[in-house]
Amino acid sequence: MGVAEIDTTGGPTKVLLIGSGGREHAIAWKLAQSPKVAHIYVAPGNAGITLEKKTTCVNVDIEDHQEVANWCKQNGIGMVVVGPEDPLSLGIVDVLNNNKIPVFGPRRAAAQIEASKHFAKSFMERHHIPTARWKSFTKPKEAKYYIEHANFPALVVKASGLAAGKGVIVAANAKEASQAVDEIASTFGKASETIIVEELLEGEEVSVLGFSDGNTVSVMMPSQDHKRLKDGDEGPNTGGMGAYCPCPLLTERDMEIVNEQIMKKTIQGLKSEGVRYIGILYAGLMMTKDGPKVLEFNCRFGDPETQVLLPLLESDLFDAFSACINGNLGNLELKWVPNTYTVGVVMASAGYPGTYAKGKEITKLQEVNSLPGHVVFHAGTKLSDTGKVVTSGGRVLIAVALGQELALASAKALHAVNMIHFEGAQFRNDIAKKGISRSLLLKGRMTYK
Ligand code: AMP
Repeated sequence: MGVAEIDTTGGPTKVLLIGSGGREHAIAWKLAQSPKVAHIYVAPGNAGITLEKKTTCVNVDIEDHQEVANWCKQNGIGMVVVGPEDPLSLGIVDVLNNNKIPVFGPRRAAAQIEASKHFAKSFMERHHIPTARWKSFTKPKEAKYYIEHANFPALVVKASGLAAGKGVIVAANAKEASQAVDEIASTFGKASETIIVEELLEGEEVSVLGFSDGNTVSVMMPSQDHKRLKDGDEGPNTGGMGAYCPCPLLTERDMEIVNEQIMKKTIQGLKSEGVRYIGILYAGLMMTKDGPKVLEFNCRFGDPETQVLLPLLESDLFDAFSACINGNLGNLELKWVPNTYTVGVVMASAGYPGTYAKGKEITKLQEVNSLPGHVVFHAGTKLSDTGKVVTSGGRVLIAVALGQELALASAKALHAVNMIHFEGAQFRNDIAKKGISRSLLLKGRMTYK
């Protein structure tokens, strides 16, 4: 079964983008800048996306892949871009390719790298890709026995399948890890039929994403997400409360190792197993004292990493997607805005990540968007009957700012979230803080006493 290729001989292309978050807003915003893109349809999209030029939100049932294919044919779509992992793991790319529709995103077999942690860990073992020591179990009793007897701190317990980022428990001791096995086994249904028990890794977490055409991988600058709700990495886990890029915690040598030992090895390893990986390969890494190790792979753009990466991409995103689909990424040199940092601060609804309020009017969006070096990407927003932008989700928006110093980008992003208003808004004040001290140290503007 072949890959449907991009054909631009008929002029600018109509794109269908699947998803509704800040990630998809950033992708739509960047694609809209391309002269090669005629129009972007987003299913289902959000209020911010409807306000972008050349962009329309559409109501297509994205769970019915054949219906998506039919809609594409009826509407002359020349490229589909899939944002979230669920449709990828369910095989939307396979269905669209069978219908001769070009898609940016991995097929079901390749999306296993995210959808099955068991697959990902076994794959890394086969190809000697650095990761935490691990073992998998289908019987909770055996997992608990193993935790008691492992010869490494077996403290991280994971559901193998997709669990919307909630299927991982990092335990403080063996007793807690055993309890975590029962909790995970009883919470996630099919996703936790296989349970992974893993060595606890220590260090800083970073994200490295790369474009891939199945043969070559073009690695982007490293970024860092902030998962906890509150300043100082306190409070419950969330979908991500902010990110910044590039993250100065990785040296050039570290990036070389990540590129050679992780990103290239993964794409080549998949190829050697007969899987052509087209799309974004996202490596969640722990920078340990023994070097970078993979915590997880994702088979798509990260959220909120995408919102701080794409404003730094100078090249045409449509060209990058086309090169991945057509298998000629090796001929394309992606350019990035030099000497510039981005910081993105998420504004979330009151109560998030628990039950949260909706329908709160958001003000000052236009004012912030018109400031130089600022862009606001929407996530949980919608247009009210009277045409006002109101909150409709947990994570509502992300205010991204660019600056030639990380500290400047951070100050600008904070200025933006202090200007934008909705009742009960929560945000962190310390996004990029770790990176700021590191970048000042690297530039010799700060020294350890
Ligand atoms: P994952 O979905 O596998 O990336 O896990 C979610 C989060 O759990 C990661 O972002 C880490 O914060 C944490 N985590 C996962 N695996 C480990 C590990 N082996 N050691 C320490 N923390 C981990």
